[in-house]
Amino acid sequence: MKFTKIAATLGALALTGSLAACGGSDDTGSDAGGDKIKIGIKFDQPGLGFKEADGDYSGFDVDMAEYIAEGLGYDDDQIEWVEAVSANRETFLKDGSVDMILATYSITDERKAEVDFAGPYYVAGQDLLVRADDSSIAGPEDMKGKKICSVTGSTSAQKVKDEYGAVPQEFDSYSKCINALQGGQIDALTTDDIILAGYAEQFPGEFKIVGQPFSEENYGVGLPKGSEDRDKINDLIEKSFEDGAWEEAFNDNLGNSGYELPEPPTVDRY
Ligand code: GLU
Repeated sequence: MKFTKIAATLGALALTGSLAACGGSDDTGSDAGGDKIKIGIKFDQPGLGFKEADGDYSGFDVDMAEYIAEGLGYDDDQIEWVEAVSANRETFLKDGSVDMILATYSITDERKAEVDFAGPYYVAGQDLLVRADDSSIAGPEDMKGKKICSVTGSTSAQKVKDEYGAVPQEFDSYSKCINALQGGQIDALTTDDIILAGYAEQFPGEFKIVGQPFSEENYGVGLPKGSEDRDKINDLIEKSFEDGAWEEAFNDNLGNSGYELPEPPTVDRY
């Protein structure tokens, strides 16, 4: 999905890409276009971060990442997409596996101790996905005694354990929970509503979202601690709210999710 190139180019002129310095120091010489930027995304979350069968990448996070990268001076072909899962995001930012992460990544105080965040650029809420014919789970209180699935290293799994006394079956990715939900090994998948909506849309008629959100998940752009690009990325996120790129990214990828485009969140320049 492409954004308004003129707007992005103006952004690129205004904002010089210091990420270039860290983005491609080990990509010596092989790219005619210059340095690369390594961006961590999910590969298995339709509508958010998804690797298509033809090798293309799609999703709201992908489009926002392309917009931000372009504003920092990188063309789409200078982006190296790296698969991030919930549990390796801090590690990937610390060990240089990626330069930034857009992967349904909630800004939390615990994570802020290890990495930095620009944003938020979207606010989701934790919810539950169940089989379409299951009416036994109507909200988070019904999780007790049920077989719940979530992902290691996510705020979703943590909240279930801390606040709802359930012991979730944990996998390293949400798509594995979807397989288990389809197979009847688990009763519900819990994570952010917008992620669940992507799966519900991928398998029409199979699942339903319970619709009782029980957290606030502020999606941020994860950056290495002390990154000098945070201000620029915050500027770009705000610019995307104003020039229509954010709305376009949402509508192109999540327009049929059943969730309306919300008001853009307020960027937190902590
Ligand atoms: N947004 C939550 C988190 O960052 C759940 C989704 C995810 O695991 O990516 O932990």
